[in-house]
Amino acid sequence: MDHRQQRVALNDGHSMPVLGFGTAVPEKVPVSEALVATKLAIDAGFRHIDSAYLYEVEEEVGLAIRSKIADGTVKREDIFYTTKLWPTFSRPELVQHSLEMSLNKLQLDYVDLFLIHFPMPLQPGDQIIPRDENGKLLFETVDLCDTWEAMEKCKEAGLAKSIGVSNFNRRQLEMILNKPGLKYKPVCNQVECHPYLNQSKMLDFCKSKDIVLVAYCTLGSSRDSRWVDQNSPVLLEDPVLGGIAEKHRRTPAQVALRYQLQRGLAFLAKSFNEKRMQENFQVFDFELTPEDMKALHGLNRNIRYFEDSEFSPHPNYPFSDNE
Ligand code: NAP
Repeated sequence: MDHRQQRVALNDGHSMPVLGFGTAVPEKVPVSEALVATKLAIDAGFRHIDSAYLYEVEEEVGLAIRSKIADGTVKREDIFYTTKLWPTFSRPELVQHSLEMSLNKLQLDYVDLFLIHFPMPLQPGDQIIPRDENGKLLFETVDLCDTWEAMEKCKEAGLAKSIGVSNFNRRQLEMILNKPGLKYKPVCNQVECHPYLNQSKMLDFCKSKDIVLVAYCTLGSSRDSRWVDQNSPVLLEDPVLGGIAEKHRRTPAQVALRYQLQRGLAFLAKSFNEKRMQENFQVFDFELTPEDMKALHGLNRNIRYFEDSEFSPHPNYPFSDNE
């Protein structure tokens, strides 16, 4: 087997390629670039593609996948495609509708993974981020256990092979796991995770429940000014990361990705640059020593690039709990 296609088993019998390609388009970049980049990513070897309703690129990404199927590079079953339920669709009666909208844009029959994007329901409507006339966010109260039951129905309808969550804290995950009548556990929790926020408690908890932790912002995020504090430290410029990279004749990005591989996570990397995409795939053929791992662990300083602090008044804001 091609070691670059290493997979992790999911608790529902499916499996996921450990390294995924992120498709969130940074500000000022035209969405058409997602089409070109996704085709290049598939050519570079990526088989796990992470997207979401929020990213507004599903038409382009779907077209890229279908064109790589049409030219014989891959078959549909080779691709592991993730989409996410945006919080304005948290009401149970809107969940399947949201997935069907994604499938319609993608022109695919099913997704491999459907995630609740955030545990913070927002009022339904046309606005992605709904606000009142004073600009105040319009929160909504929905029992996430009801949302989860609607996610389970999407799996049973064959529209999503697997279902999971994203940005849930431990308490919120436990609430789903302890739901009376639970049919399917979340297969994963996709959360921000990198050496500055190593999520070791969440990782231990997920492992104990047979839930895969999928790391995003593994390279320290795209530093998009809409979401990320521009004064936050740049992960890939960290001297410890740089020193380890130099020792192994690799780049800091490769060390940051290899760190997650050796911790047993699935992890995403976004690059729309062909050379860096290929570089991000070259992480299966070297090994960090226990000392390297310890030094990388020592970099943890609870820096969260995606704090979404505007959402902090939401009763379900997940990042107030420290696990
Ligand atoms: P990321 O993957 O940590 O970092 C991407 C940034 O690193 C881009 O600016 C990219 O630039 C650069 N880069 C990529 N490879 C590099 C390399 N080898 N050397 C140097 N720089 C490199 O962060 P992200 O884009 O914020 O997140 C990745 C994916 O995670 C997203 O696309 C999305 O799919 C997912 N995500 C999910 C959530 C959620 O709430 N569930 C939140 C955020 C992100 P170039 O493109 O120019 O190479």
